[in-house]
Amino acid sequence: MSSIQGQAAVITGGTRGIGRALSLAFLEAGASVHSTYQGNEDAAMKTRELAGAHAERLYLSRCDVCDPASVEAFWKGLEERGVNVQILVSNAGIRRDQLLALQKLEDWDAVLDTNLRGSFLMAKHAVPFMLRARYGRIVFVTSPAARHGFAGQASYGASKAGQMGLMRALAREVGRKKITVNCVAPGFIETELIGDLPEELKKEYLAMVPAARFGKPEEVAWAVRMLCDPAASYIHGTTLEVTGGL
Ligand code: NDP
Repeated sequence: MSSIQGQAAVITGGTRGIGRALSLAFLEAGASVHSTYQGNEDAAMKTRELAGAHAERLYLSRCDVCDPASVEAFWKGLEERGVNVQILVSNAGIRRDQLLALQKLEDWDAVLDTNLRGSFLMAKHAVPFMLRARYGRIVFVTSPAARHGFAGQASYGASKAGQMGLMRALAREVGRKKITVNCVAPGFIETELIGDLPEELKKEYLAMVPAARFGKPEEVAWAVRMLCDPAASYIHGTTLEVTGGL
């Protein structure tokens, strides 16, 4: 891979699970990393600790991706500090699984707001930075749930399919400006997001995976890092699955 040294990356939900692995991978590659989180201070501090010698290039911000005012304040802060953002990884996400007929509207809204509205709001602010620079890399972290359809995941699957539609449209809008837009769809990855699944269901999911294991956050981070490389300039408007063959 070529270099992202000296570039600035914004990673939402960058302090736990896949996002933490993303933050550490981009730091390792020499980028400045602006990681956001919703409210888990302990996880944020742990991420700083794990960054070790790279911590001076790690900037942690509390920012609720669902809240336009919070997102605007975050990007205004970057602008005021003269940060030129080359990379956005829209990774923050939640699930509130329930059979559709039983799903509460507030849970449906929370999932759509975090996963889809959050991606829209972050991209809306990132794109002007990248248009000015005539360069950019945007990756939305989605899920094979969008095409597979897991029972109990109507809200999650709809939000992830929405991100893919958003990605395809944005790819058409900015492709001429040397900005690439893609999705990475991780399979079952060992993070807190799937920590609450019943053991029986985990076994059922595991049996679906040809690689016969769940993935690691670092394996997803590698794929995202690859798509954000300057050399990945012709990978555009696509979804890369990191699923062990699911
Ligand atoms: P985790 O639950 O481990 O971490 C989620 C992160 O998102 C946290 O940093 C959390 O912040 C942040 N977050 C949640 N809500 C908001 C919000 N409203 N505003 C800002 N930040 C928020 O999740 P994973 O690492 O497992 O998942 C990351 C992404 O990967 C998600 O989009 C998920 O859908 C996707 N994915 C995960 C899979 C898996 O098996 N793990 C499979 C397929 C896709 P805080 O720590 O403050 O709560």
